[in-house]
Amino acid sequence: MKDYLIIFSLCLFSTSLAAQRAVTSKISAFTDKNYPSLEKLYHHLHQNPELSMHEEKSAARIAKELKRLGFEVMEKMGAHNIVGIFKNGPGPTVLIRADMDALPLEEKTGLPYASKAKGINAAGNEVNVMHACGHDIHMTVLVGTARALVEAKSRWNGTLVMVGQSAEENGLGADLLFKAGLYEKIPLPDFAIALHDNPYLAAGKIGFREGAFMASVDMMDITVFGAGGHGAAPHTTKDPVVLSAQMIMAFQTIVSREINPIDPAVVTVGSIHGGTVHNIIPDEVKMQLTLRSYDKDVRNQTIAAIRRISASMAQAAGLPEDKMPQITIREPQTPATVNDPVLTKRLVAVFKENFGDENVVEMPPYMVGEDFSRFGMQEKQVPIFMFWLGAIDPVKVQAAAENGEQLPSLHSPLFAPLPEPTIKTGIMAMSAAALDLFEKVK
Ligand SMILES: [Zn+2]
Ligand SMILES: [Zn+2]
Repeated sequence: MKDYLIIFSLCLFSTSLAAQRAVTSKISAFTDKNYPSLEKLYHHLHQNPELSMHEEKSAARIAKELKRLGFEVMEKMGAHNIVGIFKNGPGPTVLIRADMDALPLEEKTGLPYASKAKGINAAGNEVNVMHACGHDIHMTVLVGTARALVEAKSRWNGTLVMVGQSAEENGLGADLLFKAGLYEKIPLPDFAIALHDNPYLAAGKIGFREGAFMASVDMMDITVFGAGGHGAAPHTTKDPVVLSAQMIMAFQTIVSREINPIDPAVVTVGSIHGGTVHNIIPDEVKMQLTLRSYDKDVRNQTIAAIRRISASMAQAAGLPEDKMPQITIREPQTPATVNDPVLTKRLVAVFKENFGDENVVEMPPYMVGEDFSRFGMQEKQVPIFMFWLGAIDPVKVQAAAENGEQLPSLHSPLFAPLPEPTIKTGIMAMSAAALDLFEKVK
């Protein structure tokens, strides 16, 4: 009897996936027809990138697209966060999130639609701006998915929530969205899903991982004090440049000698500034660090080690108590992104049905971070799933593998996704996932 039940439920499962496949093939045809306008949108977003907290025009553009489709749109939900709600009868609430911000980089891809945009950074300086993390792909997929799901609205029931998120890169946007009361202002999502383009995976492919997906992120600022003076009389000073160099080298032993080798962790000093000219020993040096881990205890151990090493090296340099290094950790910290196992299994089956097993690949966890984690970490816990969207020309991926070359990473001025197959696969994957999570119309 039990066996019959299993066979019966497997049949039901595959029949419903097959029925859904019929809808997604219609969505595929619709997306093909719709693609020229989506490509125009992608080029527009790519050429008009905006830095974190400045995504005013991108947000307005997404809001306009959603309103035109019949979404009720809430704007300025903390920074430039926008939230669109499309109610389509009783059923589950599915939230889809795309981030909108770009990075302070000069694009060097040489593409005909490369960005020449400028923006003002947090320090008030004019900088070049580029969508080097591919959030323009994410926004285009969000709009394409909204169009596809509204087109197919007679086939599903439920509430679709589309979020255009501000300020992912500096880790502030999702926090501000929840401080603005997102889950109190919309029906509580039954599921929240998001994607991120991947700089090593071929366009047309999808990468997934159950459980640990992306690391927690801390941004740490350290001011190292000294006693400045003439560069030719170092014996009359306490040199914070030399002390900083010693501290940086000692930090390298935290992960290699203190953290259990089984636990992933990263300590990177990404920025160091001190002094003005050749022959002056400065009074202070400023450093900026990024810390990554998956485990709270590892995070705490890393921070404690940095504090201990900094203070003891300053003491060893002969600095007094009031000149100990000043360490601050920026708030909010970005928690690790952990994919819900049940939701992951369910949507991986959907992706395999739509794209074939060979195009849906399991990926290792990465030490990059994402504040999409917050969508699952509120008081009312919502199952989340984030997946990788292959974004690179398959010919380039293969050539790099054969020649042992490294493709440009995310945040590289050379990062150049292949738009058409990437955007189409993103829309198909998101639409198929949402259709599976909504209630079907009989
Ligand atoms: Zn990024
Ligand atoms: Zn990103």
